[in-house]
Amino acid sequence: MSEETLSNLSREDRSFEPPAELAAHANVKEEAYERAAPDREAYWAEQAERLDWDRKWDRVLDWDNPPFAKWFVGGRLNAAYNCVDRHVEAGNGGKVALHWVGEPLDDTRTITYADLQDEVCKAANALTALGVESGDRVAIYLPMIPEAVVAMLACARIGAPHTVVFGGFSSDALASRLADCQAKVVITSDGGYRRGAASALKPAVDHARAKASEDGFDVEHVLVVRRTGQEVDWDDSVDVWWHDVVDSASAEHACEFFDAEHPLYVMYTSGTTGKPKGILHTTGGYLTGTSFTHWAVFDLKPDTDVYWCTADIGWVTGHSYIVYGPLANGATQVMYEGTPDAPEKGRWWQIIQDYGVTLFYTAPTAIRTFMKQGREIPDKFDLSSLRLLGSVGESINPEAYMWYREVIGGERAPIVDTWWQTETGAMMISPLPGVTAGKPGSAMRPLPGIEADVVDEVGESVPNGSGGYLVVKRPWPAMLRTIWGDDERFVDTYWSRFRKQGYYFAGDGAKKDDDGDIWLLGRVDDVMNVSGHRLSTTEIESALVSHPKVAEAAVVGAADDTTGQAVCAFVILRDSAGDGGADIVEELRRHVQKEIGAIAKPRQIMIVPELPKTRSGKIMRRLLKDIAEHREVGDVTTLADSSVMTLISEGLSSGKAED
Ligand code: AMP
Repeated sequence: MSEETLSNLSREDRSFEPPAELAAHANVKEEAYERAAPDREAYWAEQAERLDWDRKWDRVLDWDNPPFAKWFVGGRLNAAYNCVDRHVEAGNGGKVALHWVGEPLDDTRTITYADLQDEVCKAANALTALGVESGDRVAIYLPMIPEAVVAMLACARIGAPHTVVFGGFSSDALASRLADCQAKVVITSDGGYRRGAASALKPAVDHARAKASEDGFDVEHVLVVRRTGQEVDWDDSVDVWWHDVVDSASAEHACEFFDAEHPLYVMYTSGTTGKPKGILHTTGGYLTGTSFTHWAVFDLKPDTDVYWCTADIGWVTGHSYIVYGPLANGATQVMYEGTPDAPEKGRWWQIIQDYGVTLFYTAPTAIRTFMKQGREIPDKFDLSSLRLLGSVGESINPEAYMWYREVIGGERAPIVDTWWQTETGAMMISPLPGVTAGKPGSAMRPLPGIEADVVDEVGESVPNGSGGYLVVKRPWPAMLRTIWGDDERFVDTYWSRFRKQGYYFAGDGAKKDDDGDIWLLGRVDDVMNVSGHRLSTTEIESALVSHPKVAEAAVVGAADDTTGQAVCAFVILRDSAGDGGADIVEELRRHVQKEIGAIAKPRQIMIVPELPKTRSGKIMRRLLKDIAEHREVGDVTTLADSSVMTLISEGLSSGKAED
């Protein structure tokens, strides 16, 4: 028998038809799949027509030198013009682009498309005056304030690729990114508000600049937004205040149009290991992909919807689904600076109620945190404006999906579970809300124009009911073009596993259910091998989360003399479950056995108060594996909260955790 690629353990029979009203008026209907399949390039060319081009392309796709793609060859456009000016020119200057909500209560700003145009033009003029030219890189290290959006668009407007570094990253992380992309200017602020306090940003830039300088690279200018008013160190030869140079700049700026393949931005992603990779996205294809998917998957009705994506601007989700997709579509959106629990739990629901949010996009990690706290909190608010919910970042466990659907979506709003990556630039696999009967936990089908599949070790498509590797078989417009400065690493990382077939390998495991719908099963690096069965993390975690006392779970494979590896689980209980009772561990082991079978029954279950997560909310299983195998915990630099590992270890040694 050949080794199974990845076991298919769980079954899920629930599914939810699209609401009739939504289906009747949906932006995209079933026919899109049929139309796109025979001629994907024609389908993408049709989507590219959504944008304003200064010059149309001569050729849709140049794939003569795979895996280096060129889309809309010969076309010229400006991303900022598409996101801002054209809406003003169409008479929508008075329309709200951003309802910005600061973390301190009553600290809000309303920014129309006309306001945004003025701000972007001023910032573009200011950057030009600082010596930034087309092709120069600009780093952005800002909190979630409107200037972050303005700064990105101003860079795009003058053709200077930006690299946004998440404001929670350390000065070392910033320094390595500055040096890698040789950023000429850094845009930052004195600080931002987080969890009720002003936290400084400028000192990290000062350190990063000094560090980069030691390594032989000098940043020319630091442009500083005043947000908190806190004290900052100042170097007159480098530092300039935003209010000095941007506010006084002219609001007139004639934009230049750039080649469709002009670099738009570099986004660093650390992945699971190693040196961060600078993922390069270019202009025409990326904007086509983000604008189409934002319109199709959220069924955006720009005149009536209020959209809110809770991601930080420092992640790709913030780039594609706060800045480029929604603004290209002329959407009205909410942007929030702070955390969900500031000043108290329920802040997000308050914002939805206050602004009548209709489309809401967040991550499973947030949903599970709210599940842990209990439904009493969201139940206090009127969430009836919501008509569609989205999820991104990890698989959404079926139980978290059901909670999201019932408690937040009032059993009305369909859920779109969107699979994509920094590298893919835009959503790839997702339900279409007016077409797909969504299944809790499944990202369902590749979007029209996308050819993705689940394949085995040798690249053969697996039959329905089986698991394997998720691949993308044909190029797509928003795909990464390379890793900044490292074509070889680009080829090795993404295109070598299935080189013969020419498939892009995403690093994720997945399965096709009996209907051929796709379920993401976690990173293949995290797969466990138990008695010769290759088990994914997602299915066992979902089985644990389906127990009424469990809010969140992470499983890892730990070395085992008998079975090769054994399943070890780390579990956070819901607040309502108290300590779970004396038999909680046995109860949960039996539950997993009942849900998916004896093979997946955890050898060990540890009840913990927190799980180690990256700053974008993904569980760092590698660290849990160190604990499960009684090793010293490895590199924790990408951990969001470094005290978590101490909390877990203390919990374990004080006897709260059980074997
Ligand atoms: P990032 O590039 O940081 O956005 O992370 C991309 C990775 O997140 C993917 O390779 C998946 O492992 C995971 N991911 C994102 N969205 C989903 C989803 N809807 N379902 C399952 N996994 C997801």
